[in-house]
Amino acid sequence: MKIAVFSTCKYDRDFLQEYNTDHELTFFESALNLQNVALTKGFQALCLFVNDSADREVLQALKANGIRLILLRCAGFNNVDIATAAELGIKVLRVPAYSPEAVAEHAMAMILTLNRKTHKAYNRIREGNFSLEGLIGFNLHKCKVALIGTGNIGKAFYRILKGFGCMVVAYDPYPDAALIEEGLAYGTMEEALKDAEVVSLHCPLTEETHHMINADTLKLFKKGAMLINTSRGGLIHTQDVIEALKSAQLGYLGLDVYEQESKLFFQDLSGDIIQDDLISRLISFPNVLITSHQGFFTREAMQQIAEITFANADAFESGRVLVNEVKA
Ligand code: NAD
Repeated sequence: MKIAVFSTCKYDRDFLQEYNTDHELTFFESALNLQNVALTKGFQALCLFVNDSADREVLQALKANGIRLILLRCAGFNNVDIATAAELGIKVLRVPAYSPEAVAEHAMAMILTLNRKTHKAYNRIREGNFSLEGLIGFNLHKCKVALIGTGNIGKAFYRILKGFGCMVVAYDPYPDAALIEEGLAYGTMEEALKDAEVVSLHCPLTEETHHMINADTLKLFKKGAMLINTSRGGLIHTQDVIEALKSAQLGYLGLDVYEQESKLFFQDLSGDIIQDDLISRLISFPNVLITSHQGFFTREAMQQIAEITFANADAFESGRVLVNEVKA
């Protein structure tokens, strides 16, 4: 098939070319949107990532251009209007799980960095400053962690937390019986948040979870708690989180995702004037750590993403069952 691949960086092109199963790939660096949808003429399929937009208008233009298949090279599908795609007969396939450990390990890296301030120690020592002033952390052993969402990534993260000796209380509308057997305690959202030193989000972005962390839910946090979001930026009301950081209700914030990330992440903007005042304010806090949606970014995950993406394309082309179809 002729596949137009959007939002590509060099590392995407390298992995996709290495695992390509005989499709004709054309790479675009830009993210798909209504302005550049004309680029999709002459292709049968698109390969999209987290910040490409396939809303109703874009999908209608795709249909007119003859696109029959969207291959998402990610798990989340909040950037595609699935109902409209179904109405237009455009199939949407995704990579439901690719090394959930990669994201879970990144969440733990964020907790350890914010807590033990290794990033600050690294810079200090390089400048000949061997002082410990301001670097004090807390033990993760016996510390309460609220785990919000216990799917593939939440499950991998629970096992890491267990290894650190944390007391984990999870909230998920669909508790996992296997995890309960492994010793995980479930409660309501309020019970999970109560007295937790760390709150980590691992649920998808849906209408229900949009801005689930807001001024009201932040009041349920223990004062000075740490919030980690490696899921989707839209789970958090950013302005409310900034207010909570200013009042010290929130003691630390680790973000791998950000609601307006599509204009910033995966690009080198050094030297540019950042127009997004919210992220500029976030960056100014000494207790905030932001990474640029890199949770998934391990060799193992990139290989799995490429392999499953082409397996999805092959299944579609040969009329086999579409096991990774996202249905309305
Ligand atoms: P998953 O579908 O396996 O699990 C999601 C879990 O969230 C499910 O158990 C579901 O029941 C639960 N859930 C749904 N609504 C909830 C709610 N209101 N409160 C609490 N839990 C709720 O997904 P996953 O593979 O574990 O991925 C989780 C999210 O991580 C994805 O949706 C994606 O947005 C994000 N992600 C981020 C990266 C990254 O690089 N940072 C990579 C992959 C995925």
